[in-house]
Amino acid sequence: MMVLTDPALRGLALDGYLASAGHGLRAALRDPGAIIPVIEASGLRGLGGAGFPAHRKWAAVAAAPGPGRWIIANGNEDEPGTFKDRFLLAETPHQVIEGALVAAVAVRAAQVALYVNPRDAATVAGLRDAAAQWAAHPLLAAVSAAVGEAVTLRVVESSGLYIGGEETAAVAAVQGGFPFPSLKPPFPAQHGVHGAPTLVTNVETLAQAGHILEKGADWYRGLGIGDAAGTKLFSLSGDVLRPGLHELPMGTSLRSLVFDHGGGMLGGRGFKAVFTGGPSNTLLTERDLDVAMDFDSLRARGSRLGTGAMIVVGEGTSILRKTAEYVAFFAASSCGQCPPCKVGTFQVARLLERLEAGSGGPGDLEALRNLAALLPGSGRCGLVDGAATVLASSLATFPAEYQRALR
Ligand code: NAD
Repeated sequence: MMVLTDPALRGLALDGYLASAGHGLRAALRDPGAIIPVIEASGLRGLGGAGFPAHRKWAAVAAAPGPGRWIIANGNEDEPGTFKDRFLLAETPHQVIEGALVAAVAVRAAQVALYVNPRDAATVAGLRDAAAQWAAHPLLAAVSAAVGEAVTLRVVESSGLYIGGEETAAVAAVQGGFPFPSLKPPFPAQHGVHGAPTLVTNVETLAQAGHILEKGADWYRGLGIGDAAGTKLFSLSGDVLRPGLHELPMGTSLRSLVFDHGGGMLGGRGFKAVFTGGPSNTLLTERDLDVAMDFDSLRARGSRLGTGAMIVVGEGTSILRKTAEYVAFFAASSCGQCPPCKVGTFQVARLLERLEAGSGGPGDLEALRNLAALLPGSGRCGLVDGAATVLASSLATFPAEYQRALR
């Protein structure tokens, strides 16, 4: 199942891309009023992790009053285990830009920021080159005519910090400031870059938009399994034979991802667990192998699809060790604005490190349980919630590992 990862779309200059693709943008230009209804009928959800219905966010920006509208194509991507957006930006930047321009027409935004993590200089250079090719192309003039003012595509390098991908932090960064997240509401849809209505959307969501406008809502819905719509890029890593990026129907089972597409467990080890949707989430275990990987099915299971990162853990790998590593990452990534996040993630990381080293006591376990209960909701963004969720899930799912660490 290849839509976004179709080899025919990779590595092309704009003319080559438009020779076979770009039909979605052309369709959008023929009937701008139909864009949001088609996106709604397609069932497209926000693929950065939250799964918020795309049409609702686009409609909110379109309906918000005020000039100077912005699109931020969010390619900061720094969730551990997630490597889908860098693929899209490096291999098929025109697909992302086409989607961003479809969105620009839908919400009448003239400022388009391609917000990219600077970790790979070649990707940033390729994106700049891609944007320059669009700037010189008559199709961009047609987009400007539809929007009602000259559309500007600019590449904005993020700080590379994890927190910079949070949408209000992205708005701050595009304005030239440090990427501090701010409280929501107001949502960027109402109050974004320089106070103007702003659509901040993950690049995978945007990349889907051109295909949907070209081939139709029914086609897109039909790509998914059951009630789930479309395809999803899964970043598969950990103890599997074939880690990597797998584009699969939304709603594919975890079992199929790990054992069919991932080739099964490395070295014939037993399957132990998976850090789902990135390590800020509830762990899934063997009894969850048949769960459909889509936003609603995973939520019904008390978990979340998140970015679609699946970090597989085999028997013999310590969940306590992995949890300690991920919480240490969150502690190091806290922006420090909210004391419970800054102090709480640091404290959890310290306690896990101590347990892992074999020098913890029963009081440490009690402290971890208390922190897992106290921390959620105490920050202005989701960072501290992620750290608390993975901690709580790890404590509840693998209690024996924690008990063993005490002995
Ligand atoms: P959120 O639920 O706060 O919001 C989702 C989106 O819906 C936002 O764009 C928000 O502005 C919009 N929205 C919600 N209500 C709205 C309304 N009434 N009007 C207009 N817009 C509205 O989630 P979030 O904090 O943006 O994202 C959380 C997700 O990000 C997590 O699920 C996690 O998986 C993911 N994540 C991704 C990465 C990465 O590297 N891609 C890193 C960390 C977290």
